[in-house]
Amino acid sequence: MSPWIDGQGRKIDYLRLSVTDRCDFRCVYCMAENMRFLPRQQVLTLEEIERVARLFVAGGVRKLRLTGGEPLVRPGIVGHCERLAALPGLRELCMTSNGSQLGRYARDLRAAGLARLNISLDTLDAQRFQAITRTGRLDQVLRGIDAAQAAGFAGIKLNCVVMKGRNADEVPALVDYAIAHELDISFIEEMPLGQVGRDREESFCSSDEVRALIAERHELLDSAEHSGGPARYVRLAQHPRTRIGFISPHSHNFCATCNRLRLTAEGRLLLCLGHENSLDLRGLLRRHPLHDGPILDALHAALQRKPARHEFSAGGEVQVLRFMNLSGG
Ligand code: SAM
Ligand code: SF4
Repeated sequence: MSPWIDGQGRKIDYLRLSVTDRCDFRCVYCMAENMRFLPRQQVLTLEEIERVARLFVAGGVRKLRLTGGEPLVRPGIVGHCERLAALPGLRELCMTSNGSQLGRYARDLRAAGLARLNISLDTLDAQRFQAITRTGRLDQVLRGIDAAQAAGFAGIKLNCVVMKGRNADEVPALVDYAIAHELDISFIEEMPLGQVGRDREESFCSSDEVRALIAERHELLDSAEHSGGPARYVRLAQHPRTRIGFISPHSHNFCATCNRLRLTAEGRLLLCLGHENSLDLRGLLRRHPLHDGPILDALHAALQRKPARHEFSAGGEVQVLRFMNLSGG
């Protein structure tokens, strides 16, 4: 099968799959307070997602990441992981989770072949946690992180969206938590996805500001390593087991090396997180249940339309109406 190369000559070897738009949290940067979720028939079945994954892996995708919404609220997720992890040629099956259900699922996920976990953690203060997630409980997530470590997951990475006035002052404490638990941690600039009912510009905190906060307490060593994603990493001179990542869609554009595509929960293949142009794969999959040819042709044609770059402005204005829970970050 011909490899996945886009119109700019970029090789696509990473596919993110949003397995549900639903979530048990309502994080202020991701969702509005009252969300309407997709009706079930508009969401891809697990079999449909597996079919797409199989086609992509056969053409050279080496890394799959399950996300959402919260992937662990989708019924059947453990079996889904098992089938995806077994795809011939796949190097790594990963998941991004809010951690709330990991106490229950971590061991089964590990046994199913899930290789890596990113877990979101924006604060270590129980009240703030509740304010940011609206419905989440910090103790449950911290237990989830412990369960993931106990299950043997190596290379767990924490994800933290930094917002002034909400959690920016906790950056040093979060770094200390990562060091104490020998975890990596990435700090993310908030992206303007979906109307979430607050002014993002007011709380925007750049990666350079976050880095300066950390540098007040730690000697930072620049690092050329990357994890196949958009994060730039630094190491801590005194704590070699923890890497600090910065995901900076505003201040450090990472489009030139973009190697990824996203499949939304409703089956749209997003060519770029910052653009609306996409391919309706759900329609194609359902029109051609037995023949992959038309789907492969449409995928190769769509790749020629993958934008050269996103156009998020530093002002934090909403340019893409889609919510993050649809596209999975
Ligand atoms: N529910 C899972 C979680 O929270 O980890 C997976 C889905 S969530 C959409 C994936 C990642 O996107 C999370 O790390 C979350 O913090 C991040 N995220 C959500 N909305 C964002 C936004 N507007 N800007 C930047 N990151 C965002
Ligand atoms: Fe749910 Fe993740 Fe969005 Fe938070 S960031 S509302 S946990 S999907």
